[in-house]
Amino acid sequence: MPELPEVEALAGYLRERAVGRRVDRVEVAAISALKTYDPAPTAVSGRAVADARRHGKFLDVIFDGDLHLVVHLARAGWLHYREAFPSTTPLRPGKGPIALRVRLDDGSGFDLTEAGTQKKLAAYLVTDPAQVPGVAKLGPDALDADLATFTERLRSRRGQVKGVLTDQAVLAGVGNAYSDEILHAAKLSPFAITDRLTDDQLATLHAATRTVLGDAVRRSAGHRAAELKGEKRSGLKVHARTGLPCPVCGDTVREVSFADSSLQYCPTCQTGGKPLADRRLSRLVR
Ligand SMILES: [Zn+2]
Repeated sequence: MPELPEVEALAGYLRERAVGRRVDRVEVAAISALKTYDPAPTAVSGRAVADARRHGKFLDVIFDGDLHLVVHLARAGWLHYREAFPSTTPLRPGKGPIALRVRLDDGSGFDLTEAGTQKKLAAYLVTDPAQVPGVAKLGPDALDADLATFTERLRSRRGQVKGVLTDQAVLAGVGNAYSDEILHAAKLSPFAITDRLTDDQLATLHAATRTVLGDAVRRSAGHRAAELKGEKRSGLKVHARTGLPCPVCGDTVREVSFADSSLQYCPTCQTGGKPLADRRLSRLVR
């Protein structure tokens, strides 16, 4: 799932490549992906791309006249920038991976795609990003929050730190992968309870959040959209590395599975060497 660093990089790429280009047309292939109907997608035609920004894990493509295409890429969504499209024939609604296509006046443009059968990618065409319910309820950005804000937000929600850190209303931008990485860097168990964390532990967690996300943003910057996934994978120390050695201490990275996700951690670095119970039915991770 694209999280803060990947969405930041996608926005950066669009700023560099698409700003100033005029939209020929927007084609919607997955009707269910577009969550708004007014303004209609035809309202974008003829407008120039003015900017691209990020709100948490939402990408916001801004067109002249304050029209925003806000996108949540969900778990399997992605943005593919095309220097050219193979055909000028409009996409037909269907079952393919392309949800939405934006064609620009130089023949380039981008596709929003979603792999797999679970279609969760959500796009909104709005005049103000706050009209998107998921954007309106976002907490402070995980990369911007200072220590006082971070501490206040984490303590505002009692629960297992992994779940609280990935709750977008608490802090915006952190998902399953980077929360594993942040907790590993902070040497905290994913099951530690937030209101029992000491000031020192919260300061360490805050520093780890900034370091892990900041490093990932720097690694991703300047990469083309197509290269970002590999770039993300190469920087991970525990996430998606079950059974491999922890690069910090050499212990074996372990996993806890849930109904539709899993978390990875290093016992030596994070849980005093003790493996965590694999609570398969836990609803910790959203
Ligand atoms: Zn370790």
